[in-house]
Amino acid sequence: MHEKIYDFLKNIKYITWVVTFRCNLNCSYCSNVYLSKLFKEINYGIKLEIVEKLSNLNIKEIGITGGEPFLCNQFTEIVKRLIDYGIRVGINTNGTLIKEQFVNLLAKEKDYIDIIISLDAPLEYINDVFRGRGTFKKVLRTLKLLKKHEIPFSIASVVTKTNLNYVDSLCDFAYNIGSKGIVLTDLIPVGRAKNLKDIILNKKDYERLFEIIIKKNIQYMFNGRNDFKVKTTIPFIVPYILKKYNKQLEQINTTRIKETFNLEKYCGMCISKIYMMPDGTILPCLYIPDPIGNILNTKLFIKKKIIYYRQVARESIGKCRFCKFQKICGGCPAMSYIYYMDLNHGDPRCWLFER
Ligand code: SF4
Ligand code: SF4
Repeated sequence: MHEKIYDFLKNIKYITWVVTFRCNLNCSYCSNVYLSKLFKEINYGIKLEIVEKLSNLNIKEIGITGGEPFLCNQFTEIVKRLIDYGIRVGINTNGTLIKEQFVNLLAKEKDYIDIIISLDAPLEYINDVFRGRGTFKKVLRTLKLLKKHEIPFSIASVVTKTNLNYVDSLCDFAYNIGSKGIVLTDLIPVGRAKNLKDIILNKKDYERLFEIIIKKNIQYMFNGRNDFKVKTTIPFIVPYILKKYNKQLEQINTTRIKETFNLEKYCGMCISKIYMMPDGTILPCLYIPDPIGNILNTKLFIKKKIIYYRQVARESIGKCRFCKFQKICGGCPAMSYIYYMDLNHGDPRCWLFER
């Protein structure tokens, strides 16, 4: 393997693998759907070759996503092999296709697998608006099945103006049904979600969401389930807490906060994380479809691009580079690409800039 590229790959601890583009649902805000027009599906044999390549690196964890991962041929075998190589596997699934055969593997390997199930509201008529009719009932069945077999799972939700009012009760729902925790993300206007700009959160909505996240974490902590965390992928929640509650980082750096929120720079693209398409093509980020190489052929890696994206992640871009919260946040560079089609702006969602 090309020495320099091998060094780069060896430092990567986390890969997100879009293992298939196939999906049984048609969620109206699916952002990965645009990738299926740019990259190819491949057969099972080549996916096994990819697994072999991964086994030679230092990957500690792989996040499998789609499409719907359970529609990937021989998915169980792929997961089994990754675990055999000592790689922890997180599976992001819509939760409608988990079958008995997989439940058995999950039960056996539950220490090595994290199941993350999409659910946007505790009510059928809200959840199914975007995910499709009947989805809520199927997900509920799966959650009960996992609970019955004592298989840990988490819930992931996309928050928009449509379900913001239900986030509080969704957290309670997740808590009561035995989820390990919940991860709240916002809608990224990519792929099909491009048509849903009017339900994207604005500043007031973000503030409301952050207050709910803070409140629920405090509530669960006092309820005695310190392990149940309400997390978010929105990087500027810590700057929000610091500003709103007028605190220094040292004051909020408690164990609970450290475990719940990211207190280091958020973006790790090409530093500790990369993203992989079904055919092994490597992207710096799921939202920046600029291939930097292919895991199956290390000669195809483009050093210049790796250096560039690493620098974008390290130093941040636009206003985020000069923001006093850069070291603990830095925003999400991909948002600049999505909103402006270039990487010169800071995170356009954030209003918290301070020098
Ligand atoms: S301006 Fe950028 S670095 Fe500053 S808080 Fe907002 S997202 Fe974070
Ligand atoms: S650019 Fe944004 S979405 Fe992409 S890896 Fe960085 S923080 Fe994550």
